[in-house]
Amino acid sequence: MTCDFLALAVPGVQKLSPYVPGKPVDELARELDLDPAGIVKLASNENPLGPGTKALEAIRSELTELTRYPDGNGFALKAALAARYGVDLAQVTLGNGSNDILDLVARAYLAPGLNAVFSQYAFAVYPISTQAVGAEGRAVPARDYGHDLDAMLAAIDANTRVVFLANPNNPTGTWFGPAALEAFLAKVPESVLVVLDEAYIEYAEGDELPDGLDYLARYPNLLVSRTFSKAYGLAALRVGYAISSPAIADVLNRVRQPFNVNSLALAAACAALDDTDYLARSRQLNDAGMAQLETGLAELGLAWIPSKGNFIAVDFARDTAAINQALLREGVIVRPVAGYGMPHFLRVSIGLAAENARFLEALTKVLRS
Ligand SMILES: *Cc1c(COP(=O)(O)O)cnc(C)c1O
Repeated sequence: MTCDFLALAVPGVQKLSPYVPGKPVDELARELDLDPAGIVKLASNENPLGPGTKALEAIRSELTELTRYPDGNGFALKAALAARYGVDLAQVTLGNGSNDILDLVARAYLAPGLNAVFSQYAFAVYPISTQAVGAEGRAVPARDYGHDLDAMLAAIDANTRVVFLANPNNPTGTWFGPAALEAFLAKVPESVLVVLDEAYIEYAEGDELPDGLDYLARYPNLLVSRTFSKAYGLAALRVGYAISSPAIADVLNRVRQPFNVNSLALAAACAALDDTDYLARSRQLNDAGMAQLETGLAELGLAWIPSKGNFIAVDFARDTAAINQALLREGVIVRPVAGYGMPHFLRVSIGLAAENARFLEALTKVLRS
């Protein structure tokens, strides 16, 4: 026991804090001796509908092929995505979740001496992937909890290779419109890769958010990342994708693991992409649940950050650690965001109507005790 294995890790990794996921239901059940069936988890922006029947059917028929490696090129899913979005197959990169895409970008384009620009309160994976490869992460102060795109532009220098944008952003739910994106893209040097993370776009489509894909033809340095984890309800399978210029896709293809997306995920994602009914129900449920939570929060006199995602950051105007603990004792798991520098907030994912009601009931009880 003489070797300090932490000290041996590369400098960026030594300083990393691991990503903190939402508390799993079984873990809380174990810790507080609760019945897992009575626990409500609104902590990881998961789809409360459960998996769609088409995705489940596709998985079942794929099971007989489990001894074989998946299609390492993910041809069928790439072809389906390319057809859906009117892009070339060579523009599509598949990832083991869109987190994998973010990581591939960092590994391909960042290194010590280089930097990535992202917003304060942005998704935790941006700083983690950046630091892991020894690059500098530049968190630009937010404006009203959202991206300050002008300040982010100003933070770009000769060593900037990547800008991470999330629209809408997690954990704040904030968003920016088409004019703001256009103005930003027009001013970013073409040598800087702009990663537009649209993990929640299916919940916001038709609203005042830009569709990142509309800008790809004019901005070859743009990469749009999306996921099957949220509105498509396949978080456990880990499948996401990027659409970019073929040149960027070619670079990412060089660093990705040969079989980074498994065959069940590929099959399910193909089926989910065609399940327009499931997607519509996801969106509907989310709109209704958001309204339900906003009404309940207003009745409790609480404030929140307006959100275009499937979650809402609630402002308690005081440290929320005790409130979170009390909610856990009520069997309700939400997400503390002190790690994001938001100790006065809790992030609550939109659940089924009954789950949202359970959360509001528990919260009412906790705040009155
Ligand atoms: C949930 C989320 C993702 C998606 O993660 P997956 O790896 O695709 O499950 C990406 N970006 C943001 C901002 C998210 O909140």
